[in-house]
Amino acid sequence: MAEKNLDYYIEKFAHLRIDRSHGRPAPHKPILLLSIIDLIEQGIISTNEIVLTPEIVSTFLSYWNALYPDQKGIVALPFFHLKSDLFWHLVPNAGFEKSFSLIRHIKSSYQIRDMIKYAYLNEELFAILLSDKNRTAFRQAIINTYFDSDKKKNLVDIINLNRKAMKYEKFLLSDTNLPFLAEKSKSKKILRQAVREIGFRHAIMSLYNYTCSICKTRILTLEGASVVDAAHIIPFSVSYNDDVRNGFALCKLHHWTFDEGLISVDENYSILVSPLMSSKRPTEWILTELVGKSILLPNKDSSYPAVEAFAWHRKNKLLK
Ligand SMILES: [Zn+2]
Repeated sequence: MAEKNLDYYIEKFAHLRIDRSHGRPAPHKPILLLSIIDLIEQGIISTNEIVLTPEIVSTFLSYWNALYPDQKGIVALPFFHLKSDLFWHLVPNAGFEKSFSLIRHIKSSYQIRDMIKYAYLNEELFAILLSDKNRTAFRQAIINTYFDSDKKKNLVDIINLNRKAMKYEKFLLSDTNLPFLAEKSKSKKILRQAVREIGFRHAIMSLYNYTCSICKTRILTLEGASVVDAAHIIPFSVSYNDDVRNGFALCKLHHWTFDEGLISVDENYSILVSPLMSSKRPTEWILTELVGKSILLPNKDSSYPAVEAFAWHRKNKLLK
C-alpha cells in the first residue's frame, strides 16, 4: 500500500468520487475541500473535529455563489457524501448510529446537524494540511482537476478575497484596546469594499455567534446561511468605522428597524423603542414589547458596542 503522504492525498483529491451525471463533474466536493483548507489556514478549524458551522457554510457559499450564481449550493451534500472517499469520516450523534448508515439522500444542513456530531479527516491528512506549502499544493490540484479555465481565475480571486477579509477580521478583533473613536481615518475607505464587508461581518458574527442582539434569534436556512446581519451603529457612510464597537449583530427585521430609527439602545444597553410605535396598533407590539430588555452582548466587555455610538444613534436616528 502506498505511504499516505502528501503525494498520496494529492492523488486522492484529484480522483474524488464525483457525480458526473450532469455532464460535468459536480463541484460540491471540490468546493467543500477548498473551504476546509481556507478555514484550517485561518485557524477557524483548529482541531480535527469538523463541525458543520456557519463559517463552513459561508465559505462554501462564497465560492459557490461566485461560480454558479444560478444554482443553489447545498453544503450538506458533500459534507455527507465525502465519506465515500475514505479519508473523511462522520461521527453520528447519540441515537443516530444506525439510521445514519441507511441514509442515501441528504436534503439539508439541518439533517446533518441533527445526525452528525462532526466529521474528521485521516489524522495524517489533517497534519499535512496544517502546512502552508501543502495547502497550496492541494488547492492547485483541486482547481486544475475540477474547474475550467474561466472558473480558475474566479477561484483564485475568491481565495485572495477571503484571505484579505480574514486579515481584516483579525485586525478588527484585535483593535479594541485603543479608545473608541466615532470617526476613523477615511483611509479605510480605500480598502476594497468586499474585503471590508466580509471582514466586518465575520468579526461581528464571531462575537455574537450569528444571534440577533435584540431578539436573540438564531436561524439558519436549509443551506445553512444565517438570517443575521452585521450592522453598523453609526453608518459606515458617516463614520468610515468598522471598529467592532461600532457594530452589533441584528436579524433582518431589527436591522431595518434600527436603521430606520424605530428602535435604539440606551446607555445601559437596554432597548428603546420610538414613541411613534404603539402597542395599540396591530403588530407594532412586536417592537414595543422589547422596551427595557437588555441586548445580547459579546463575552468580552472590551468588544461591547460603544456607548458613544449608541448615543449618536439616539441623537441622529431615533424617531421622536
Ligand atoms: Zn432580531
